[in-house]
Amino acid sequence: MSNKYDIATYNQKRDFSKTAEPRGSHGKSTELLRFSFQMHDASQLHFDFRLEADGVLKSWAVPKGPSTDKRQKRLAVRTEDHPLNYINFEGVIPEGSYGGGTVLVWDIGTYENITEKEGKIRDINESIEKGHFLIMLNGKKLNGTYAMTRIDDEKGHWLLVKMDDEHADARRNPVKTELTSAISGKTLDEIKRDAEKQA
Ligand code: MN
Repeated sequence: MSNKYDIATYNQKRDFSKTAEPRGSHGKSTELLRFSFQMHDASQLHFDFRLEADGVLKSWAVPKGPSTDKRQKRLAVRTEDHPLNYINFEGVIPEGSYGGGTVLVWDIGTYENITEKEGKIRDINESIEKGHFLIMLNGKKLNGTYAMTRIDDEKGHWLLVKMDDEHADARRNPVKTELTSAISGKTLDEIKRDAEKQA
C-alpha cells in the first residue's frame, strides 16, 4: 500500500520533461549512510532535510533550518521520500513546477544512527516509524548529535534539536551566516545565474 510519503508521491508531483530533478526510484544504500540539508528558495525560503535510509532519502522540510544551539527546537515537516541521487541535487526547479525555485546543497555528509532501545541500536527505519531517532552528523557545517522527535503524526510534524556535545554552539547561527553551497561553493544567486546562462 502506498502512503503520502512514499516515492510514488514524489514522481506524481513532478513533470520530468520540465524539471532537471532526478526521477524517483528505490536505490541501494551505501554502507556509510548520508544526509544533506538543501536550502530551497521556493515561495518561502526553507531547508529540506534528507536522510538516507531504506534505499531512499527520508525527507522533512525545516522552515527555519537546523540550529547548533541546543535550546532551539526547529519544526520539521515530513515530506515524501526522495531518490538517493537527490542528495546532491543543486539547480533551479522551473517556476510553476512542484517545488519551483533554486536549490543549494547547504550541507552534506554522513551520519551514524545512535538511537538505542534497551541498550541496543534500534534500526533507523523502525525509529522513524516509531517517531524518534538520534543521529550523529559528520557534515561540513553540522556535526555532532541531533534528535528528531515526532510531535504530531497526522500533520507529520517533528522537532529537530541539537543535543549537548562539543559541537553545540549557541553563538553560531549557520543558516544565517554560512550561505554557500557545501559542494560548489556557490550562493543561491550564483546557482540561479548559472542556470539562466545555460538555458
Ligand atoms: Mn523544498
